[in-house]
Amino acid sequence: MGYLEGFWVTFRQMFRPRITGQYPEEKRPKVERLHGRHVLNRYEDGMEKCIGCELCAGVCPARCIYVRGADNPPDDPVSPGERYGFVYEINYLRCIHCDLCVEACPTEAITESKLFEFSFTNRDDAIYTRAELLVGDDGRPRQLPWEDWRPGEDALTSGWMRATAPAGDHRWTGEVQWSGELGYGVRAPEPPQEAADPSEEEG
Ligand code: SF4
Ligand code: SF4
Repeated sequence: MGYLEGFWVTFRQMFRPRITGQYPEEKRPKVERLHGRHVLNRYEDGMEKCIGCELCAGVCPARCIYVRGADNPPDDPVSPGERYGFVYEINYLRCIHCDLCVEACPTEAITESKLFEFSFTNRDDAIYTRAELLVGDDGRPRQLPWEDWRPGEDALTSGWMRATAPAGDHRWTGEVQWSGELGYGVRAPEPPQEAADPSEEEG
């Protein structure tokens, strides 16, 4: 009887819905807070948000960020601050996408897009420069030849920053505490989140 039971298990599986996707032809929707390839953001007026403070490089556990700040030229400033990120590099051969750099950044200059489909055939391509990381004049990530972007994916560049419940506290729901972005303005908060425990509403 053992083999008949085995056939029965196989037979039943034939009528169950398939959950295997035809990747890479089909991609599943990505969650809003997925950690992917970084972008360097700009304000709505086009100025760069990075002030070259190096906090992201200091906190990075993989030591894969290199930043060198420089004074803004008085006649043609790059950022609203005193300084800007003159050199900015991320080595994706080492990045573990922990997002600590995003958390450390005081100006929301660096965030992560949802793109994780990228691969390299040489070291130079793996080390992203400021020019490659900086969003374009439409506020969207620059799409590099070795990256697999699909329509709409380039709109998701700052989901983490738009989290409305820091540390999981739902009382922050709907609170906008971030600056506007080139091409998008002030991004909307995430949808309301339900309270796990009604008593948390107090105090
Ligand atoms: S995501 Fe983590 S490992 Fe990658 S650059 Fe940022 S801090 Fe470093
Ligand atoms: S990305 Fe943010 S933390 Fe890093 S140097 Fe620029 S302003 Fe500082």
